[in-house]
Amino acid sequence: MTVPLDAQASGGTAAFSDGRIEQAGEPTEPGRALRVHGAVVDAQTRCIHYASALDVVAIRFACCREYYPCHACHEQFAGHAATVWPQDRRDERAILCGVCRHELTISEYRAADECPACGAGFNPGCRLHAHLYFEL
Ligand SMILES: [Zn+2]
Ligand SMILES: [Zn+2]
Ligand SMILES: [Zn+2]
Repeated sequence: MTVPLDAQASGGTAAFSDGRIEQAGEPTEPGRALRVHGAVVDAQTRCIHYASALDVVAIRFACCREYYPCHACHEQFAGHAATVWPQDRRDERAILCGVCRHELTISEYRAADECPACGAGFNPGCRLHAHLYFEL
């Protein structure tokens, strides 16, 4: 007896190991995964430098458009000097909430004490370092 070979259905097993999420209504560029680089220590983008309960955001750097948890991670791992976002780019979605993966614009983030999507609190101490990421 011959069994039909329909085992091709097992092809294309895509593993979403990096927590990639499709966001409805977001103008996401094709193939752009929300990958966070650097010394990340957990799924909420904490890193070896900033790992308090409130350290849940990652920042996309203007120089390479890659997300890092903090300026020290970028310095250690990017291999180039960081560029800050100029004032006229405040509409860029450059802040990632590590809890819900919502992306905030720079102006949204700078006005927020918590994530507008999931309510996770942001570290007010980050304001002390804003000049490392944004032109003030
Ligand atoms: Zn960079
Ligand atoms: Zn770091
Ligand atoms: Zn959130």
